[in-house]
Amino acid sequence: MIDNHAFSPSATRRILLLGGTSEASAMARALAEAGAEAVFSYAGRTASPIAQPLPMRVGGFGGVEGLSRYIQEQGITHVVDATHPFAARMSTHAVVACAQTGAALAALERQPWAPQQGDDWRIVPDLDTAVKALPDDPARVFLAIGRQNLALFAGQPHHYLLRLVDPAPQPLANATVVVDRGPFGVEGDLALLREHAITHIVAKNAGGSGASAKLDAARQLGLPVILIDRPFVPPRLVYGGVGEVMDWLHGSVPEERGV
Ligand code: NAP
Repeated sequence: MIDNHAFSPSATRRILLLGGTSEASAMARALAEAGAEAVFSYAGRTASPIAQPLPMRVGGFGGVEGLSRYIQEQGITHVVDATHPFAARMSTHAVVACAQTGAALAALERQPWAPQQGDDWRIVPDLDTAVKALPDDPARVFLAIGRQNLALFAGQPHHYLLRLVDPAPQPLANATVVVDRGPFGVEGDLALLREHAITHIVAKNAGGSGASAKLDAARQLGLPVILIDRPFVPPRLVYGGVGEVMDWLHGSVPEERGV
């Protein structure tokens, strides 16, 4: 079989893949299969990051300056930003560093979730507003925002259910922690919400299929969801699929700025 995405040995691309999502793992597999010269970068937030079929580096670059230096020192020609839609600082740094160094940049990004009939969503612009959107009376909240920023929800009368990828300490006293890693299914999430008598869900509008089951389960149970909108990221080239990014890397798609 001929692989249309295979890179010829003469290709002079050197790719930096910014990871931390299931899309990034899929992108890494495609790059490895195509024989691309690429490095996978993790922030280093989790104790046991998923192994990748590419050389890996772990940890921050040291801001825009550090990223620009890395791009230059490593001879990076293309940056693929497959970070989470809420990793806005890393994505912004990538936009600025690529503009400074002349490296080409494309993001691999999921579509945000959109409400369906039967959903009871309150869309809020940020985490602070999400805290205020919860009731004054004690509620049982599935707080599905990851580990960072949990402290913002301290000092409230609620009991929280947290689903985290590893059992490291977290800052909320009144919380039950479930250690699990997606993708999650609707039956499992229905059982989780029922078992913990959840009355409210707080989530980020991450998009994609790996974490959408909780929204399906909430719809079935008639539960309100406080959904945090995506943060701002400067305009950049954005693709929705691995194949499109591979086409872009091969130069078969004309580059357009902005989305
Ligand atoms: P962030 O606020 O945008 O990034 C904070 C800092 O972490 C960045 O300035 C950078 O440090 C470093 N960093 C982030 N992603 C990196 C990467 N892939 N490789 C090297 N350094 C990275 O990001 P975040 O929200 O903390 O997310 C951290 C990581 O977790 C991201 O890779 C993201 O894909 C993943 N993740 C985030 C969420 C979420 O809800 N935010 C959910 C799932 C997965 P320097 O400035 O020192 O370069």
